[in-house]
Amino acid sequence: MPELPEVETVKRKLQPIARKVISSFWDNWPNGLKAAYSSKQISADMHGRRTLNISRHGKVVLIVLSSKKKGTARTERLLAFHLRMSGRLYLSRHGEKMSPRESKHVHAVILFTDGTELRFHDPRKFGLVWYGTPEQVKSYRYFTDIGPDALGLDFGTFRTRLLHHRGMIKPLLLRQDFIAGVGNIVADETLWASKIHPRKRVEQLSTAQIRLIYKSLQTVLRNGIMAGGTTLRDWKHPDNMEGQFQKHMKVYGRRGQVCPRCGKEIRRIVVGSRGTWICDRCQKL
Ligand SMILES: [Zn+2]
Repeated sequence: MPELPEVETVKRKLQPIARKVISSFWDNWPNGLKAAYSSKQISADMHGRRTLNISRHGKVVLIVLSSKKKGTARTERLLAFHLRMSGRLYLSRHGEKMSPRESKHVHAVILFTDGTELRFHDPRKFGLVWYGTPEQVKSYRYFTDIGPDALGLDFGTFRTRLLHHRGMIKPLLLRQDFIAGVGNIVADETLWASKIHPRKRVEQLSTAQIRLIYKSLQTVLRNGIMAGGTTLRDWKHPDNMEGQFQKHMKVYGRRGQVCPRCGKEIRRIVVGSRGTWICDRCQKL
């Protein structure tokens, strides 16, 4: 599942569509469309709007669309994407041929007046697309509940929020209402780097350990972004390049291999129903 480094990579590689004018919108998966309008109405509403700012919060890509001159269309719009399990956003040209497999899994397309297309490809169909005024979109439960973005979050905020919780550290790191953007890879790599067992209880962490988790998290996120995210299966960049972070991972998915720090074999355990990779010599409970 794409996490913060993957979504940040998507956001950066979508910058070529900034300032482009939208011609139309198409969608064939209503279950994944979170809007007060049908996809036809959205297409008419989007027509003529320009993409302004392209940003990211946690695992969501946010695109602000310009206002129009007339009537109720006079306010800006917000378009948001969550890739969830298997979603991909990529850039293409209108009319560019897709393989049958590819066309089967494209569930939304935004066409720009210059012939550029932004396609949302999602075989498992868990992905989400939100559209409306910024107020409408931000009133959806996902956005009212979301915590601060994990990247660049200051230590004081991280510590204060953490001290409001009890229970195991790894499930807490994964909660998007705690901090937004951390998934299984980032959590396992962060805890390995911090020498903290994923089942360690938050209320038993010392301030030094909390600081270590915070610092390791920022390092893992920055390294993940520098590597262009992780490509394990289908996920790729909007320009079809692959992420390289899988080559730098120390524990995640490395069952049967050894800990690069101490040489002990890496183990897979289950924590809060999620597969979790640890070195049980480095990460003592
Ligand atoms: Zn180790």
